[in-house]
Amino acid sequence: MQTNFTAEQLSTPRIDAANNILRKCVHCGFCTATCPTYVLLGDELDSPRGRIYLIKNMLESGQPADAKTVKHLDRCLSCLSCMTTCPSGVNYMHLVDAARAHVEETYRRPLFERLLRGVLAYTMPRPGLFRLSLIGARLASPLAPVAKSFGATRIAALLGLVPKRMPVPERVGQPGTYPATGQKKGRVALLMGCVQSVLDPGINAATIRLLTRLGYEVVVSGEEACCGSLTHHMGLEHDALARARRSIDQWTKANVDAVIVTASGCGTTIKDYGHMLRHDPAYAEKAAAISAKAKDVSEFLVMQDLPEAQGGLRLAYHSACSMQHGQQIRTEPQRLLRRAGFTVMEVPEGHLCCGSAGTYNILQPEIAARLRARKVANIEALAPEAVATGNIGCITQIGLGTSIPIVHTVELLDWAYGGPKPEAFA
Ligand code: SF4
Ligand code: SF4
Repeated sequence: MQTNFTAEQLSTPRIDAANNILRKCVHCGFCTATCPTYVLLGDELDSPRGRIYLIKNMLESGQPADAKTVKHLDRCLSCLSCMTTCPSGVNYMHLVDAARAHVEETYRRPLFERLLRGVLAYTMPRPGLFRLSLIGARLASPLAPVAKSFGATRIAALLGLVPKRMPVPERVGQPGTYPATGQKKGRVALLMGCVQSVLDPGINAATIRLLTRLGYEVVVSGEEACCGSLTHHMGLEHDALARARRSIDQWTKANVDAVIVTASGCGTTIKDYGHMLRHDPAYAEKAAAISAKAKDVSEFLVMQDLPEAQGGLRLAYHSACSMQHGQQIRTEPQRLLRRAGFTVMEVPEGHLCCGSAGTYNILQPEIAARLRARKVANIEALAPEAVATGNIGCITQIGLGTSIPIVHTVELLDWAYGGPKPEAFA
């Protein structure tokens, strides 16, 4: 693609990086076929190629973002399916991240939208506050149909996401150091996380039980809480980078062999810290080192030579977009589950997003609901006894559309190797 940035524009790191990405696109349009929003809406401007043109025009103009561009960028899930498909290696993730940061810096959203985004960006990364707000939202959740009937679809979507039963915090998973059982093989850090640690504390507990049984000392600092992924995808660069720096400080101080992540959305961002902080002289090197140590829990476990076990259940495996497209982890979770004795079935149209995508199912509820319905229909066609996946967003989103239990891969593995039965089966 030919670009027309001025020399002055190219002297800024964000535009220089965007220019290099844009020039790789050859307009072939292969990416349109695997883009969930194009598949649903059929509008070129809701395809990766269309969005790339919008971003190019927005950045070249040097002007504030306009409403039309913002509308189509907001509809992008950041699922990165387009990156898996693109034969030219266009790094759409870094391009849309730069575009979102430009939008947040230059575009004034309507008042209600600013308020809603502000509340989500402030509340969700803070586990204590998030838990309190869930309790409040639960009291208001019977009003979801009323909100919907008045056209307040985002409020209705927000209330609809509140769990029916407040998860009980687990003792295992709280900040601290968990010693290895038997011969110590190494020392790892576990990202405590924000939303996941509140919505499903059993995931971190299962991870710690399994890793310590395998001979790893596990450090949960808790100081880092949110990795910055949520605000990063909302274009709030300053907040996201501050959270990244805090996480890097904690894990550098902890002096660990690996940083284990159990939410694939977070893993994608942590593996990108090196890029996000490449122009920060105080952090560039440390950020790259932490990115290199970051491992999805399935990536780490597959290296552990786990024995065969008798899991037994018939599972549909849903690969989160951040797992298969963001981190290109395509076979490890299924291999682990099969070795643990589960029958694993791949979900048809597995490359399409379930509509979760961070705050997307609140901010774009109609598209998210259509994607969920499509995903659930594909899962239910397999008639599984449970669904396995590796991302809390997908667990919440898919769980709203089906009564089939949705369980994190690591909880199933912990159960198969001697841990308790996952809470989702209760
Ligand atoms: S990230 Fe996903 S929704 Fe966005 S353009 Fe790419 S394929 Fe489409
Ligand atoms: S597949 Fe890649 S090169 Fe082709 S239009 Fe999409 S982003 Fe551009």
